[in-house]
Amino acid sequence: MKGGLPLKKYRGNEVEAVYCNSCGKEMEVEHGIIKEGVFEADISWGYFSEKDGERHNFDMCEECYNLMIEKFKIPVERRSLKEFL
Ligand SMILES: [Zn+2]
Repeated sequence: MKGGLPLKKYRGNEVEAVYCNSCGKEMEVEHGIIKEGVFEADISWGYFSEKDGERHNFDMCEECYNLMIEKFKIPVERRSLKEFL
């Protein structure tokens, strides 16, 4: 992506800043750790798509994620990660 806010700013290998691509909010980052819920998307579009060979990355804050999934006709599948511990 050219222009606009960077997805993530790094200082060395540490994440310094993360922005929600949807609302532009800067997320809370402390010592390289994102201190809030973030939806990280990384999709490589394949041959049968209209974006063959393109890779898309974006981050979304929990609020924007909630707004996105609210519009789904079929709700997201929810599973408790704690069941497998
Ligand atoms: Zn957001």
